[in-house]
Amino acid sequence: MHIEVVTLFPALVATASRVGVTGRAVERGQVTVGTVNPRDYAQDVHGTVDDRPYGGGPGMVMKIEPCRTAIRAAKAKLPEGSPSIYLAADGVPFTQAKAAELAKVPGMLLLAGRYEGVDERLLEMEISDRISIGDYVLSGGELPALVLIDAVLRLLPGVLGDAESAAQDSFSAGLLDWPHYTRPEGFEGHAVPPVLLGGDHAAIRRWRLKQALGRTWTLRPELLESRDLSAEERRLLDEYKADLGNTQGSSR
Ligand code: SAM
Repeated sequence: MHIEVVTLFPALVATASRVGVTGRAVERGQVTVGTVNPRDYAQDVHGTVDDRPYGGGPGMVMKIEPCRTAIRAAKAKLPEGSPSIYLAADGVPFTQAKAAELAKVPGMLLLAGRYEGVDERLLEMEISDRISIGDYVLSGGELPALVLIDAVLRLLPGVLGDAESAAQDSFSAGLLDWPHYTRPEGFEGHAVPPVLLGGDHAAIRRWRLKQALGRTWTLRPELLESRDLSAEERRLLDEYKADLGNTQGSSR
């Protein structure tokens, strides 16, 4: 996959792309993460990329000409069929399903805004999608772009050491993840659930599914509303609720 980020802060994107899962994918040649800086296409000697908003008011707006030339330069490097995405607080919420969808494209252009954002005409002319990473406002689109890159790359075949690991993550099956434990078996009086130590794989699968269902029901009940539960899942969730009732009863 080839990703080009149009940003006024290329160092931020380049630094983050050198570490962790993204860094390894870049090193192995599974992905290319490039940057294009609109400042390199500014039309004056001061490198001006922003200007005051028409209609007045606070803040500055990213100018159309340098951004457009930068976007065109980025697009020229990308394969056919690459979407052009503007990271925006007023975009469509980013989800695991959207990450899975983007994991199938050959490349993508990510436009990171700064100031009050970019001239709207640029978005109309050059952008295919607007994506938000949450209902809050950040100072720039670089961190959202990196969030999107991280979430998408871990879904590419061969990027994670164990492909199962992404398939089992929260949201992949419409549920939150189950709890994880590693050695030591006991720590300051806190034990690992015994079922995980017994080697009974069917029992472990049932326990994990039950925990995933229970956690989703407790922490994100709306996820269950949009998901049909199988008969086994319904039974396990009932068991989870009953266990919870018993625990609360016994601690009174
Ligand atoms: N005036 C904009 C608004 O109220 O929606 C906020 C602009 S923000 C200060 C500057 C840039 O940060 C935006 O152009 C966008 O690229 C990025 N940004 C801020 N919050 C974001 C979010 N939740 N998701 C994605 N991008 C965001």
